[in-house]
Amino acid sequence: MRAIVIGGGVIGLSAAYFLQEDGWEVVVLEKGDLTNSCSFGNMGYLSPSHFIPLASPGVVEQGLLWLLRADSPFYVRPSLRWQLIDWGAKFVRACTRTHVERSVRPLVDLLLLSKEETKRWATSGLFDMEYTERGCVIYYNTSKGEQEELATARQAEALGLQATVLQREQARALEPDAQLDVRGGVLYHDDAHLYPNALMEQLPRLLESRGVRLRRRTEVVGLERRNGAIAAVRCRSDETSGPVEERFAADMVVLAAGAWSPQLARWSGEYLPLMPGKGYSVTIERPQRVLHHPCILKEARVALTPWKSRLRIGSTMEVGTMDDRVRLRRVQGILKAVQQYLPGLAEDPGIRTLSDPEVLQQRTWFGYRPLSADGLPYIGFGRKNRNLILATGHAMLGVSLAAGTGRVVAELASGKPVTVPLDAFDPKRFRY
Ligand SMILES: Cc1cc2nc3c(=O)[nH]c(=O)nc-3n(C[C@H](O)[C@H](O)[C@H](O)COP(=O)(O)OP(=O)(O)OC[C@H]3O[C@@H](n4cnc5c(N)ncnc54)[C@H](O)[C@@H]3O)c2cc1C
Repeated sequence: MRAIVIGGGVIGLSAAYFLQEDGWEVVVLEKGDLTNSCSFGNMGYLSPSHFIPLASPGVVEQGLLWLLRADSPFYVRPSLRWQLIDWGAKFVRACTRTHVERSVRPLVDLLLLSKEETKRWATSGLFDMEYTERGCVIYYNTSKGEQEELATARQAEALGLQATVLQREQARALEPDAQLDVRGGVLYHDDAHLYPNALMEQLPRLLESRGVRLRRRTEVVGLERRNGAIAAVRCRSDETSGPVEERFAADMVVLAAGAWSPQLARWSGEYLPLMPGKGYSVTIERPQRVLHHPCILKEARVALTPWKSRLRIGSTMEVGTMDDRVRLRRVQGILKAVQQYLPGLAEDPGIRTLSDPEVLQQRTWFGYRPLSADGLPYIGFGRKNRNLILATGHAMLGVSLAAGTGRVVAELASGKPVTVPLDAFDPKRFRY
């Protein structure tokens, strides 16, 4: 039985891993060359602590305030595109307490399953991806931020996660080099992190060694439907002799094309409200100032991840844009937040060189997060095709949820009971 996976990001490759393990003949179709996608330059967090979906009370109000600032971490490009309006309306409707209450348990279950599977990869000796269990600290510098985070910490504990509240001096002692200027923080012990670029380099090699066919530079350009199923996937690949059209017959198709998924879903007759959410990161090689723990600067929505010999700083959410332009003011806003919260770290020579706009422009990476309309991923069968599994919309949690998603996708494909409940992630939950 042949499974075709569309998209070679972390979700598609994880699905390929578990499908192959389950005995499927797997072909991954990827329009790029598997050297860059949203799955590479991200922060590498595996965050059970991120159990509150993106669509939650207060997010819209905060977003509107941020729209007024050119260096804020949030931006929506004004547009009359129907898809953006429809997505926005659904997102606003989802920002309720009831939605959050319904979502946290299924999200935590999938996050924990995913962390367990990723840890299994890390300890199997198959990967060297700097998997580290050192938790993640959320630092706040306002009383509102503190109240919100303490409430989240209590909720985390009620869900069985471990959280420690740090007073200002305790936080400062945790990171002596960074000379923290914060009110306090919460350390979420269950979080882990890995170096996503290493995972994304090694996973394709492992898959190929196990017989998975990875077709690079092969873009899916159409889906052939017959009798309520996808009969074949049509592709165009760039060969040295010129473009070549191909057709892959499929018993099962997994749509994991990240922010590009809505177009492909349309070809299959499915409707997927999803927008790209562009984010930036900058990586500093061999920093001289040490940061021990991954951390998030709460009010600024900036994240930092330290690995053995590098440090990454990332943030921003530009909704609806796929224009490949680096908006420098926003990236400078990220560095300003580091200066405010972690003034000692900001003195690192590697960070200081980024004050030159040209250097910053060159060194900035960006990726498009696939944003669902309610902050929960789409995982499951669609409406119109009995052999199409959608696996996308993971927003800020693609790495955190990849291995768990891969595992449940394989279970669905093979008709097995799923390890964690998937009702909350049903792709059919939105109407046209
Ligand atoms: C700044 C930043 C920081 C982040 N930090 C974290 C973090 O710490 N932890 C976390 O869990 N998540 C994080 N994320 C989110 C995470 O990176 C994404 O959720 C994840 O990478 C999405 O993976 P994906 O496989 O769905 O999409 P992608 O990685 O975008 O992969 C989709 C693939 O599909 C391919 N494709 C598209 N259309 C076609 C087609 N027609 N034919 C063939 N191939 C096609 C694309 O080329 C692409 O390679 C972050 C994101 C950003 C931007």
